[in-house]
Amino acid sequence: MTDTTSGLAFSELPLAPAVLDNLQRLGYDRMTPIQAACLPLALAGRDLIAQAKTGSGKTLAFALPLLARLDPRRFEVQAVVLCPTRELADQVTQEIRRLARAEDNIKTLTLCGGATMRPQIASLAHGAHVVVGTPGRILDHLGRETLALGALNTLVLDEADRMLDMGFADDIAQVIQHCPRQRQTLLFSATYPEGVSKLAGRYLRDPQEVKLTERH
Ligand code: ADP
Ligand code: MG
Repeated sequence: MTDTTSGLAFSELPLAPAVLDNLQRLGYDRMTPIQAACLPLALAGRDLIAQAKTGSGKTLAFALPLLARLDPRRFEVQAVVLCPTRELADQVTQEIRRLARAEDNIKTLTLCGGATMRPQIASLAHGAHVVVGTPGRILDHLGRETLALGALNTLVLDEADRMLDMGFADDIAQVIQHCPRQRQTLLFSATYPEGVSKLAGRYLRDPQEVKLTERH
């Protein structure tokens, strides 16, 4: 279980009262250290390179900012989260759905390889606000023009170290070519090898680095 006893309260953040109510309802009271370090910066629109070990609560650190920025009335993909595996993408989608307030009708889709294309294409045709998936499959949809990212404002690279280990560097680069230049990019990683630093240098804009490498 994540230790949050010494963390700051979410109510310290510039979040809408309904979002704070929802966090409380979900049992999220105090921020984990990575959340306390990332959320004020990310909510202010900064690009971030965030490094913290697995289980430290990184999902909330990008899910809250991307949801805060989202316009539910605009039925276009406004945020993309790239993940290394289908299991992680499913987890991220579930967390975003829990955090998104029901009354806003925010639609989050998972697009991963290994699943058949047709249902994904049908879901995309109905529209979505947030897409979570693996780089290869998302690129596949971009190539077929079943997905367009012209309205994107937040791009998240989750588990960047693992995505590079799995050989996704080229796919990530190509997905980014489809994203507007004007966007917020949030990179999360458990470790910070040279490849991740190169990736950040290439695609992030004046990023703030947040590293929690000591024990928490
Ligand atoms: P990471 O991506 O860093 O591996 P996760 O985002 O998957 O970590 O979070 C790990 C676990 O901690 C999840 O079960 C999540 O629900 C829980 N968690 C995250 N933030 C908080 C919080 N502020 N308070 C309590 N539990 C939290
Ligand atoms: Mg994670």
